[in-house]
Amino acid sequence: MDEFDVVIIGAGPAGSSTAYRLAKEGFNVLFVERSNRPGSKNVFGGRIYSYPFPEIYPDFWKEAPIERYVTQENLVFMTESNSVTMKFDSSSSEGVSTQSFTALREKFDSWMAKKAEEAGALLITGTRVDDLYWENGKIAGIIAGPDTVRSNVVVAADGVVSDFAQKAGLRRELTAKEVSVAVKETIKLPKETIQDRFNLGKREGAAYSFVGSATGYLRGGGFLYTNKETISLGAVVNSEDLSLQKKEIFEIIENFKLHPFIQKLVRGGKVVEYSAHMIPELGVNTLPALFKDNFLAVGDAAAMVINHGYTYRGVDLAVVSGISAAEAIIQARQRGDYSHMGLSSYPDFLKKRGIMDDMNKFKNAPSFLQNARIFTAYPRMVCDFFDRMYTVDGKGKEKIFDIGKDEMFGKVSVLKMLRDMMSGLRSM
Ligand SMILES: Cc1cc2nc3c(=O)[nH]c(=O)nc-3n(C[C@H](O)[C@H](O)[C@H](O)COP(=O)(O)OP(=O)(O)OC[C@H]3O[C@@H](n4cnc5c(N)ncnc54)[C@H](O)[C@@H]3O)c2cc1C
Repeated sequence: MDEFDVVIIGAGPAGSSTAYRLAKEGFNVLFVERSNRPGSKNVFGGRIYSYPFPEIYPDFWKEAPIERYVTQENLVFMTESNSVTMKFDSSSSEGVSTQSFTALREKFDSWMAKKAEEAGALLITGTRVDDLYWENGKIAGIIAGPDTVRSNVVVAADGVVSDFAQKAGLRRELTAKEVSVAVKETIKLPKETIQDRFNLGKREGAAYSFVGSATGYLRGGGFLYTNKETISLGAVVNSEDLSLQKKEIFEIIENFKLHPFIQKLVRGGKVVEYSAHMIPELGVNTLPALFKDNFLAVGDAAAMVINHGYTYRGVDLAVVSGISAAEAIIQARQRGDYSHMGLSSYPDFLKKRGIMDDMNKFKNAPSFLQNARIFTAYPRMVCDFFDRMYTVDGKGKEKIFDIGKDEMFGKVSVLKMLRDMMSGLRSM
């Protein structure tokens, strides 16, 4: 039977950051990944918030496989025929804005895993962990095929479904309401075409969020990110809505792609990758337990995701939770105690890095985003308002006040609108 100090299940951003930090500290670390190359099966929209990386990886800006620096944000309200875009250009120096960047997961996850290997962690790819190994009622390692590996600590970094956080008894199975389904197409286009079409400099990138017909008015949204020579286009939809409306996620993305707004952006492009995945929408209110004797959960496995509707954060939280878990394990070694008590500094490290604060601050965002009007009535209202405002057809021009009164108060009651506005402002 092989023995390691720590075994980590999964080489996504959470697993690789944990492995890296522990290996740097001299721990004997094994991290196991089921795909042949880290990231090759991992799906995400396309933007990573950069704040945790430079401190962890000193040469981050030189080494990391960054596609484009996001300098342009777009929020688009959509009906079948119209759209209204709110665009924000952030200041950048020579096309570099260090706030966030776009990336491709296979390249990015492989880079992170390589950093952990260089620090001394042992990575095994193409191997699925099947079960936890227990001794005297306590987690004492993992089982992968015919092999059992013993360790002082097991870290579940196995993503949103996290069989292992469930097997360890940290969390229950997610319900349909707590999970969204996402699809994504990666569409290849020459880099000059991307730059011209999106009005970008060589290293600049654009991020788009879409509300309304992008998801067939179901709860969720569309997204688009520009990479060097590809576009990441996708949609995220609440899985309960999909089943209630008897819709399939692939129909949603097909219709979204046919919208005239999107057609202009992806014209002539070739789909080079198609992927689907789930996203937890738990929020801190329903956050599972994070650790127990000899065991911690990090990243998506611990539901570390913040969705404001206009920004989506998962990778940064995966990395921060990975580093925080590693630091709790380092302290546990100093105490010679890997029990629940010994690992109890994990939430403190999360708090120190502001993650628990952020999760708490936006704890009502998931319930606000359950409100169907945000995805149906309001996008229609915004688009119809602008449609009427710009209409001059010789049949008598309407005054803006009358259009506003008609569009705003004719479609949703004043009371509901005020309530939605207040709850949006409070939770986002
Ligand atoms: C469509 C979509 C869009 C998103 N957009 C964004 C975005 O733009 N920005 C952002 O920050 N976040 C985004 N997210 C969220 C982000 O992808 C996740 O929060 C992040 O990947 C979590 O990292 P992780 O390491 O916890 O899990 P994952 O990245 O899911 O990694 C888990 C790893 O564990 C491996 N694994 C699983 N089970 C086993 C097993 N039994 N044995 C061995 N290995 C196993 C998997 O193969 C995988 O490599 C998006 C997610 C989706 C689905």
